[in-house]
Amino acid sequence: MSEPRKEKCIWCAGDDGALTTVEVPVDTEIPAGEPRLEEVAVHPRHRSEARDYCFEAARYVKRDFFIVIGMPVLVAAAIPLGQLLAGPGGSERAWSIGIIGSLLALNGAYVIRFPHAYTPRRMSLLIGGLKRGRQIVRLGGVAGTLFGLAVLALAFA
Ligand SMILES: [Zn+2]
Repeated sequence: MSEPRKEKCIWCAGDDGALTTVEVPVDTEIPAGEPRLEEVAVHPRHRSEARDYCFEAARYVKRDFFIVIGMPVLVAAAIPLGQLLAGPGGSERAWSIGIIGSLLALNGAYVIRFPHAYTPRRMSLLIGGLKRGRQIVRLGGVAGTLFGLAVLALAFA
């Protein structure tokens, strides 16, 4: 009982109307690797958006990777850094919490600005289009930013 799989637009996941193809990097290897280009189905009206989004993710893959790796390292460094910045008589705890909150908020803001997908085809299939996937990644960024700000507020509590 298998129905013939109908091609869906990678951007909106719609299968209405005429679809064309666009060549985009799929499954970009992290951290490096040449992006592998593949043809995917897309509405003509979504072609340039889908293309720009996929190529941007491939272009920033290294930077994004270092930020993802670097963030926990910086968070771990927040404790000795807090001790250093607090100085004698200062609150190490407040400084450390403040640094961690700031980092989480910045990380969230980065994700809002660069809501990338490295496996756009997979993301599109799973979530129902890259457009929706990008919104979900952005929502994650908003949640991360709010969480970071809440942690930051603890530093002043
Ligand atoms: Zn579409």
